[in-house]
Amino acid sequence: MSAPFDLSGRVAVVTGANTGIGQGIAVALAAAGADVACVGRSPCDETVAKVEALGRRGVFIAADLSSIEPVQRVVDEAVEKLGAIDILVNNAGIIRRTDAVDFSEADWDAVVDTNLKSVFFLCQAAGKHMIARGHGKIINIASMLSFQGGVRVPSYTASKSGVAGLTKLLANEWAAKGINVNAIAPGYIATNNTAALQSDEQRNKSIMDRIPAGRWGSPDDMGGAAVFLASSASDYVNGHILAVDGGWLAR
Ligand code: NAP
Repeated sequence: MSAPFDLSGRVAVVTGANTGIGQGIAVALAAAGADVACVGRSPCDETVAKVEALGRRGVFIAADLSSIEPVQRVVDEAVEKLGAIDILVNNAGIIRRTDAVDFSEADWDAVVDTNLKSVFFLCQAAGKHMIARGHGKIINIASMLSFQGGVRVPSYTASKSGVAGLTKLLANEWAAKGINVNAIAPGYIATNNTAALQSDEQRNKSIMDRIPAGRWGSPDDMGGAAVFLASSASDYVNGHILAVDGGWLAR
């Protein structure tokens, strides 16, 4: 294993790659050598440009993952444009904040459909392709709320706890087929997803007070874990939920 973190010649598909954690991961994978298909409902021009600036191929695949309608097309387009899929990062996700007693069916369905249902069916579609090739790396983006309950985010907690369980189930079924299925559980990362928390002075302070690293994470902080889980360095890592949280869970 001379360069275990080298992703040269690998093709990654990253969902929700236009911004935030998805962009950070797409760029980190490209810096390690991978070509990247950036999937999103919004154009990923900036991310594609960053991937290309690193000398890798970057393409955009338009897909609204609030339903599973585009899932097979995403896999087909990535294979058509970049030749194969070696790495899938299921990053696209949303959050809705309301007290549990007032939480609506619409906010339940929107979050669970995007964060859990589309994730499973994208794993299934890419998984079939990877199983046929005998290898592949799937990285799901979990959350601190894959471990904890949280408040005012019932569908988000259910979806991210579901992502952790699903990651383990798929690892059990596919490890012997050469597919590594793992997850990254980001701590508190400064992105659009957490804008409401960052701007709430009290919540911001209570969050900061609990993070041993003493700062919010950045999307770039997810890059090392993503490269590890996408590379041969993690070939014997299966069904693991890797917290990248500045120590949040340790406290
Ligand atoms: P973000 O900046 O809001 O990014 C979310 C990404 O998902 C965006 O690219 C967004 O596209 C995409 N997306 C949402 N709905 C979609 C849909 N229906 N179809 C296609 N793409 C869709 O937030 P982020 O923090 O980077 O979140 C990325 C992932 O990390 C999410 O799964 C989130 O739950 C998870 N996470 C975040 C934190 C954190 O502290 N920030 C912590 C734990 C887990 P648009 O830009 O078009 O909306």
